[in-house]
Amino acid sequence: MPEFEAVVGLEVHLHLKTKSKMFCSCDANYFGDPPNTHTCPVCLGLPGVLPVVNAQAVDFGILFGLALNCSIASWTQFHRKSYYYPDMPKNYQISQYDLPIAEHGYLEVEGQKVRIKRVHLEEDAAKSTHPDGAAYSLIDLNRAGSPLIEMVTEPDIRTPEQARIFLSHIRSIAQTLGVSEANPEEGKMRADVNVSVRPVGGPMGTKVEIKNLNSFRSVARALEFEIKRQQELLRSGRQVEQATLGWDEAAGKTYLMRLKEGEADYRYFPDPDLPPIVVDEAWLSRLKAALPELPAQKYARYVESGVRPYDAEILAYNASLARFFDEALAHYQGNPQTIANLLNADVAGYLNEHQQEVQQTALSPEHLAQLAGLFERREITNRVLAQLLPEVMAGASPIKLVEERGLRSVSDEGSLKPLVERVVAAHPRVVEQVKGGNLKAANALLGPIMKETRGTAKADVVKKLLSEMLGVEL
Ligand SMILES: [Zn+2]
Repeated sequence: MPEFEAVVGLEVHLHLKTKSKMFCSCDANYFGDPPNTHTCPVCLGLPGVLPVVNAQAVDFGILFGLALNCSIASWTQFHRKSYYYPDMPKNYQISQYDLPIAEHGYLEVEGQKVRIKRVHLEEDAAKSTHPDGAAYSLIDLNRAGSPLIEMVTEPDIRTPEQARIFLSHIRSIAQTLGVSEANPEEGKMRADVNVSVRPVGGPMGTKVEIKNLNSFRSVARALEFEIKRQQELLRSGRQVEQATLGWDEAAGKTYLMRLKEGEADYRYFPDPDLPPIVVDEAWLSRLKAALPELPAQKYARYVESGVRPYDAEILAYNASLARFFDEALAHYQGNPQTIANLLNADVAGYLNEHQQEVQQTALSPEHLAQLAGLFERREITNRVLAQLLPEVMAGASPIKLVEERGLRSVSDEGSLKPLVERVVAAHPRVVEQVKGGNLKAANALLGPIMKETRGTAKADVVKKLLSEMLGVEL
């Protein structure tokens, strides 16, 4: 039994996929655009302007809360969180305080409930950069006023792996709902973690917070490092100091940003410029009705339809693959596992290599269904499938390719026999080795046979013919 256990809580920020920013009409999609080109008097914090709540952002907050089994506030408001920093031109951030849009939910991760403390809406700060060695800093206000969801869990996570899976589930939920692209690489999903270690079943230890984690892998690595560090301290009778840490990805280490400091006094007070939001039954029912099938439900449906749990999980928790899988199934009468195999192995390999989402390729769901059908009915071999894949990924119809090139499998012994005889006759040394007991040597005969039939010869039929001719059991 382990001596210690870790207690982990997460705080996740998601950049919302709304058309405009949280409180003004600036285009919220500024990614890749030149600095300070998506601004207006409201998000610049100029005097005398009035913010207006983005209704779509509120819808997104409610949808996200519903997907996490939260209760939705029927009456909520925005607060001002005061602090002075160059990335905050108003000197306060509009956020939610004691009345978040959603709270008290949970998400089940691998059979274990992680409680969701709260989900609230807020605006993002601007982005400051400090060029190396320069005597100045730069500020980009494009991000100022962008809509965010902040989600906070209770400290219910126990391992780095659980944290990683939880975050990937949150990402797939956000993508399935369409509320956020939830892409950590572009800063559209950010996570801070807090972690403490305690003797198993003992009282809570002192927790530290780790910031600046920009991938799920970093979260898991930082947690592994930090849990080990804290355990070693406790084992040697020392104490963990409350602190905020950063994560150095290259060195694989956490580093101290600041030691315990008093709880900052943000002087929260209700924003007098913004009216409270009343979420009535009609609004709530409209959004409940708009909830799409969530990843956990997709997973259950896939498993029910005969997909292996391992594959069902990969598909259900990847919003773009799940959408494609469902579209392909609509064109398919065969075993869904065949399409799942193609997507998770062959297609995934291609996507990895090209760094693309399946929707970015020219592959059509119908063609994928055709390919699965040809393979499942054994009309094409493994080799032909591998051979066709790049062209099918580029938009070609597999049925057409197979017809045009005559790539249907050949399982007819009569038509394969003369070729097999010819190849055997041409390789006397290999034949000798095989007859002498080196059965693996027979692979040298398969190559030329497959080459001549362009991969269409069924391997089991060829093996049977070879076994008969050579008097061995291949
Ligand atoms: Zn603006």
